[in-house]
Amino acid sequence: MLKHFITNNHQFKPTDPQYRQVYLINGMLLGMVVVFTFFFFINLAFYALYTVALLDFIGAVLAVTILRRFQLLHHVRQAAYQTVLLLALFLLGYLGFTAPQFYSLYWLCIFPPLAFFLLGSRLGLIATMLFMALLTMLLSWRSASWPADSFGAEALLNVAFASICLVLLVHYYEVSRNEVMRALAIQHRQLQRLSVTDTLTGLYNRSKLDAILSQEISRSIRHQSPFSVVLADLDFFKAVNDNFGHMAGDQALMSFAGILLQHCRELDVPGRWGGEEFLIVCPHTDIIGAKQLAERIRAAVADYDFAHGKQLTVSLGVASFIRDDDASTILKRADDALYRAKGKGRNRVEI
Ligand code: GH3
Ligand code: MG
Ligand code: MG
Repeated sequence: MLKHFITNNHQFKPTDPQYRQVYLINGMLLGMVVVFTFFFFINLAFYALYTVALLDFIGAVLAVTILRRFQLLHHVRQAAYQTVLLLALFLLGYLGFTAPQFYSLYWLCIFPPLAFFLLGSRLGLIATMLFMALLTMLLSWRSASWPADSFGAEALLNVAFASICLVLLVHYYEVSRNEVMRALAIQHRQLQRLSVTDTLTGLYNRSKLDAILSQEISRSIRHQSPFSVVLADLDFFKAVNDNFGHMAGDQALMSFAGILLQHCRELDVPGRWGGEEFLIVCPHTDIIGAKQLAERIRAAVADYDFAHGKQLTVSLGVASFIRDDDASTILKRADDALYRAKGKGRNRVEI
């Protein structure tokens, strides 16, 4: 129930960058509704402070309005501005319209953290400076009517210094947090790239190909558009390793990846399926188009002069998506075709 409320009906997840703001806005506004309503009744019933009770009432109505709009529209930035503004008005009103007490100024300390957390380090700093300036003006305007022992010059000076320390600390916290978040985001992107990449060839790895394949299948079903796969396996590759060494084998795999990239069209997605086997997913491509692509690759490999001075060939199996296919059935047909190409003497394309 509380989770439901605090996340705007699960519109925001903990991984969203705005999550902590959403949490804070909802918590803060709810707190304000409770506090305003409570003091409205207290001031009305026990102290007969009608002006203050009216301000409490207006505060409660504003807090409910902002909260409701936020829960319906989910505009974080707008709700953040409104919440900070409401708190500023509340604090200024509290110090401007109620009888000053020795503890009144303690309540200033809630403004800087809220402003920084909701508005960020730069806007938060501007809002805090504005607030402090307004407050100083208000205090100097009202100071004549205050009892001297409430806010002596020494007490005010201490409040001012403590506030500056608080602002600096919160500012430091926000800036350092932003730096950490930025570094984490860069690391996250690097890890994400690594998790989908084959380290030897730089092409997509098998798990990424799996994901692309199931995406393509869903899209084909939804839009009834064709797509095909090409499975390629280098011929007698074991002999390359045996005769020229494993390094030469690796080099040949990298060269083959280069040939794939060179001959694939922009939408085609080549990747390393495993060992010396590669898969190309070809969106919006029927069996004829995919066969042409496979044929181009076959010819390019046969013509290519691999670094160790030896020619290599490749065999390819092509399959197109048909109704009721899943990833395993379409791959099975491509694998069967590849097996036939090997059986018929290699350096061939079969569909
Ligand atoms: P075929 O024409 O029937 O495909 O024969 P082949 O020799 O290519 O097939 P086989 O499956 O017998 O051998 C594949 C070889 O590929 C064996 C393995 O050592 C080699 N290989 C797999 N991955 C790598 C790799 O990352 N680097 C190197 N250098 N070799 C690899
Ligand atoms: Mg092979
Ligand atoms: Mg193989």
